[in-house]
Amino acid sequence: MAVLLLNASLQPLNVISHRRLVVLLTKERVAFMDGAAEQAAAEAVAGRRLPEGVVIVRLLRTIHVPRRLLRPNRRNLLLRDDHTCQYCGHVGTSAELTVDHVKPVSRGGAADRWENVVIACKKCNWRKSNRLPEEVGLHLRRKPAPLTQEYAHIIFLRYPELKAAYDRLLAVA
Ligand SMILES: [Zn+2]
Repeated sequence: MAVLLLNASLQPLNVISHRRLVVLLTKERVAFMDGAAEQAAAEAVAGRRLPEGVVIVRLLRTIHVPRRLLRPNRRNLLLRDDHTCQYCGHVGTSAELTVDHVKPVSRGGAADRWENVVIACKKCNWRKSNRLPEEVGLHLRRKPAPLTQEYAHIIFLRYPELKAAYDRLLAVA
């Protein structure tokens, strides 16, 4: 079961654990979006067994959410670059793809900046090695930029079943 937590304004906030859901329910901080889900969850919590499928809960009071700072880690880079080598355009599985520093760290490139890291296939990464793209005839397909999408978009990319449930919720709201 996946639990999607919405702000009181219905903005998606996060995916939370069952344990966290029970804590929030106990503290009366959240409400279920519909009666059927509430009943199913109440029965499940009483029986210590959680319902199947997606549960959406909503905070009773709006909280202020600061802009999330996403880090340029491998997982976020794969999302930003759509699992696509930024040099040759090869679309691969995560196992086939590597993280490449456009300007190599050994030559003064930033190790941890969105603008200096891209997803590259192993072939291009090997070809590029410790050089700049232009030195080996490679060209970036687009300028690397920070991942600026809403955090909710990232949640939904990771949990497509929550996106479907959220869309259904908005359709009836
Ligand atoms: Zn490539």
